[in-house]
Amino acid sequence: MIVPENQKVFERMFSDEHKCLDYLFVIKYPNGFICEKCEGNEYWLISKHIRCKNCKSEISITSGTIFQSANLKIQDIFRIIWWIILQKNGVSARSLERVLGISYKSVWYWLHRIRKIMILPGREKLSGKVEVDEIFIGGKSKGKRGRGSTGKSLVATAVEIIGKGTGRTRFAIIQDASRKSLNLFIKQNVNQGSTIITDAWKGYVDITKMKYNHIIENQSIDHDEGSTLPHVHRIASLLKRWLLGTHQSYVNKGYLEYYLDEFVFRYNRRKASSRGKLFYTLIYQAMNHEPILYEKIHKNTKI
Ligand SMILES: [Zn+2]
Repeated sequence: MIVPENQKVFERMFSDEHKCLDYLFVIKYPNGFICEKCEGNEYWLISKHIRCKNCKSEISITSGTIFQSANLKIQDIFRIIWWIILQKNGVSARSLERVLGISYKSVWYWLHRIRKIMILPGREKLSGKVEVDEIFIGGKSKGKRGRGSTGKSLVATAVEIIGKGTGRTRFAIIQDASRKSLNLFIKQNVNQGSTIITDAWKGYVDITKMKYNHIIENQSIDHDEGSTLPHVHRIASLLKRWLLGTHQSYVNKGYLEYYLDEFVFRYNRRKASSRGKLFYTLIYQAMNHEPILYEKIHKNTKI
């Protein structure tokens, strides 16, 4: 698949709606079109629709994907995705509104849809040496471990340790720092047999029972704002700085999971050298993700 390596190439590749639809067509039918009804392989392409020359049935290129019934041109959505990829730290809806001349509301919704597809279910779990801790995000008052805190989100955090550096990371918003919540987070995000490093918090007592090796690194368990484990601490600082820098800190609690997904996507691909490949990855994931309804993002919060 050809990927755009810079702005000039991007503009040439996607200079009109047809070219964008052709790109989606190739992703949908990597081995060429085959009609689902009659298995014919000859077709007409009429805007978003493919019509089988044999049985005349029609299918939309974008049906069943997040592009289905898009309120923007595909070209505009490609531009949004391109800007997300192009900017090392991502973009806010406000700045994209100015750059692309698309309404704030539309940009905001598409940014959220795109964040949602950054993390696909069934991705590989972390393995090897993994630090696990919980961190607090947002809110004004200090959080108190084990009790939760008004206005704050408690985020379970895991990060692989590779040599002196870090590998991939994972987050999940959890209700509390109980054994139940932490056990589930670990099971969903770390391969069994890995070595998990935590502090002495009582929420981590089941780790050995769950068939992991467990190292208790630090006896101090009364941290409240961050983490005393060095790798989780570093990730937490980066995350907080990113939320402050790119998004001016105001991330509504109800939408935090979207921002965590974007951060993980960026962090886990921070060494990727090709912007074009990342662009392709997102378009591919968008074509392989069911439509995301406006209502699903909107929840009860006003933007
Ligand atoms: Zn057919």
